[in-house]
Amino acid sequence: MIVLKFGGTSVGDAELMNQVLDIAWAQKDRSPVLVSSAMARTTDTLLRIGVAALEGDEEQAKSELQFLKDLHYPVLYALTARATATIADQGKSGIDGLFEQLASLMKGLVLVHEVSPRSQDALVSFGEGLSTHLLWTAAQARGIPSTLIDSRTCVVTDENFTAASLNKDESYRRIKEFVHPQKDHLVIAQGFIGSTLSGITTTLGRGGSDYSATIFGAALDAEEVQIWTDVTGIMTSDPRLIPAARTIEEISYEEAAELAYFGAKVIHPSTIAPAIEKSIPVFVKNTKEPQAYGTRIHSRQPGTGPKGIQAITSKKGITIITVKSSRMLNAYGFLQAIFSVFAARKIPVDLVTTSEVSVSLTVEDTPALAPALQDLREFSQVEIQPNHSILSLVGADLWKEGTLTSKVFSALKGIPIRMISLGGSDINLSLAVPAQHLEESVKRLHRELFE
Ligand code: ADP
Ligand code: ASP
Ligand code: MG
Repeated sequence: MIVLKFGGTSVGDAELMNQVLDIAWAQKDRSPVLVSSAMARTTDTLLRIGVAALEGDEEQAKSELQFLKDLHYPVLYALTARATATIADQGKSGIDGLFEQLASLMKGLVLVHEVSPRSQDALVSFGEGLSTHLLWTAAQARGIPSTLIDSRTCVVTDENFTAASLNKDESYRRIKEFVHPQKDHLVIAQGFIGSTLSGITTTLGRGGSDYSATIFGAALDAEEVQIWTDVTGIMTSDPRLIPAARTIEEISYEEAAELAYFGAKVIHPSTIAPAIEKSIPVFVKNTKEPQAYGTRIHSRQPGTGPKGIQAITSKKGITIITVKSSRMLNAYGFLQAIFSVFAARKIPVDLVTTSEVSVSLTVEDTPALAPALQDLREFSQVEIQPNHSILSLVGADLWKEGTLTSKVFSALKGIPIRMISLGGSDINLSLAVPAQHLEESVKRLHRELFE
């Protein structure tokens, strides 16, 4: 069987939804399972309904809801224009039902002026609910035998709402029990959403549909997972920033995971783990250019395949924290004390460098940062440098290429580099620079290394 995941822009209108079905149905011999995101702009709009509710702004919430109706109903009508009355009615009553539920949830939230992470997940889950109902209706209209699955019945997570962690064993067990891929049949399921063991809706974090795809793939021992998006594969840099970026055809799991973690939005950072577990190749392809090969992410033996830099990524909204202890010398527990603070506050640390008397590290901006800094100040002096970015060069055996570092530093001449980290994975050279220098830095490095 195979899993095909389509992102928000890939299901952005009726024509695209038909294109999505063409792509999936062309592979009907491979027992396809289609995992879809919400239509483009939908998740953001649902989040704005949450903000309006929090402020008790009913008018604003209603106008956001109307926007979603204006987005989804015309697509429904276009998809069912030539369908039988039964299919058109079934499609419409499904969408009506979802909007009724959404409207009452919204009303409740506006009344109490409150949106907890738990309610927010309930709210945003409607996006994937709507898009998959539309796809399923379109499949019916075209006579494609299909089953619509509610992913919440089989993707089980903990209760960390808005960024839940997978309960792998239970999810795999349920996916195997409830999802039955077959030839000449299309299974359709929502990405991004899941539920707790007691059935409360959760989400896997922004962009999490990619992760859903490999979760389904690993549970069902897929021969392949395909991530269909709006660019032709993983590229040497974000094409929105670097128009000269080009597609990387083959990349290892480790490199892809590193790229995703350090900012390549094209795949969600958690996507790779389930694929590695079952050695499933992951393709990244362009919905608007389906014949193009795109990128294949797969296992690669050390020492084979292209060496050197594959891509440059960047991550914004980074704060550099420097922690100094007067008792650093021989203080074996100092690093542990620092990391315990970040662990307790669930803040991931990206880069770390040390000197005899201090430790510098980078974290993404998060509301949990202020209390963490407070904790650190109890046993050390803390300096922070906000408004930074990390740029990462990813590729196998980086340090073995003797000329790399000199190329990088000469390209970045004049740019203040605040932190450098090479080593660790041996596939990632990361630099922290002030945010205002990021774009120029990526451009110069791309020119030097790829153009
Ligand atoms: P989808 O909605 O299909 O999940 P996303 O917007 O989440 O799509 O991801 C695709 C986007 O990722 C591209 O439009 C591109 O701007 C961005 N991107 C960032 N870095 C890269 C990269 N290295 N290669 C390709 N795309 C990238
Ligand atoms: N719809 C969700 C989001 O916008 C999940 C996804 O697109 O992968 O974050
Ligand atoms: Mg995405």
